[in-house]
Amino acid sequence: MVIIGGGFVGVEYAHFFSAVGTKVTLIIRDKVLLPFEEPEISELLKNEMGKRMTLLFGSDAVELRRSGKGYAVLVENRGSGEIQQLQTDTVMVSAGRTSNADLLKVENAGVETNERNYIKVDDYLRTNRKHIWALGDAIGRAMFTHAGDHEAELAWHNAGSRRKLPMDFQNVPHAVYTSPQIASIGLTEKKARENYEVLVGKAAYSDTVMVRRCLSTAGLQKRSSRRAAAGSSGFILSALTQLS
Ligand SMILES: Cc1cc2nc3c(=O)[nH]c(=O)nc-3n(C[C@H](O)[C@H](O)[C@H](O)COP(=O)(O)OP(=O)(O)OC[C@H]3O[C@@H](n4cnc5c(N)ncnc54)[C@H](O)[C@@H]3O)c2cc1C
Repeated sequence: MVIIGGGFVGVEYAHFFSAVGTKVTLIIRDKVLLPFEEPEISELLKNEMGKRMTLLFGSDAVELRRSGKGYAVLVENRGSGEIQQLQTDTVMVSAGRTSNADLLKVENAGVETNERNYIKVDDYLRTNRKHIWALGDAIGRAMFTHAGDHEAELAWHNAGSRRKLPMDFQNVPHAVYTSPQIASIGLTEKKARENYEVLVGKAAYSDTVMVRRCLSTAGLQKRSSRRAAAGSSGFILSALTQLS
């Protein structure tokens, strides 16, 4: 099986199919897996997933055609321009999600969309039309089920209340169902350092009871906190865990 795209969806399915015995090749445009995660996470995931499947980094799928009983996928190396042909039974395309606001034609209701064609909302999830609220994937922000659920509660509250509550997009937790498993919330260390003086703590995940119970060894926990200035307290900017 060839999977095109090394984002959250591509790596989760690559993990799942390789775990049930499928021979998987994952085509990844970037030089790392999950570039939005901490670099340690991308590296660890690359090493662990690389043991179970073929990872083609810095590569673009440029052509797909029927070939025998399956498909031929032409893959171009973005650095050298070299093309290789992969023969496969099945192809999965997970090269990103796009808005379908063009099908819904929200502009007919006077609702504005942004440059990526997602519905524009303010901090309270209200569109430019006073009585129209939008949430979930349609606004193209934190595209996760639990974020959509929370936004639904907020939009419902804000539509009927004078005391409106903003959506906090910085603190949306997310998980990636691979092996190692990944979970994180908040800023990456690099992002945190752009605006704050930070303290970074790291611990071996194997020191936790859960990991010992699972007989695992690889993994880490990392937490970035704002450094406490004299007379004030610091606060946690991010946290992530990865375990296998
Ligand atoms: C392969 C994949 C894996 C994912 N894995 C995870 C995960 O592990 N964890 C996680 O948190 N999130 C995951 N997500 C993201 C998650 O599925 C979405 O963020 C979530 O479903 C968004 O909810 P929503 O209600 O905004 O949109 P949707 O769940 O897409 O619901 C929108 C609904 O509106 C309907 N609709 C569209 N247009 C119209 C119309 N004109 N009229 C009437 N109905 C319409 C659609 O048919 C659909 O039923 C994944 C997404 C994908 C694609």
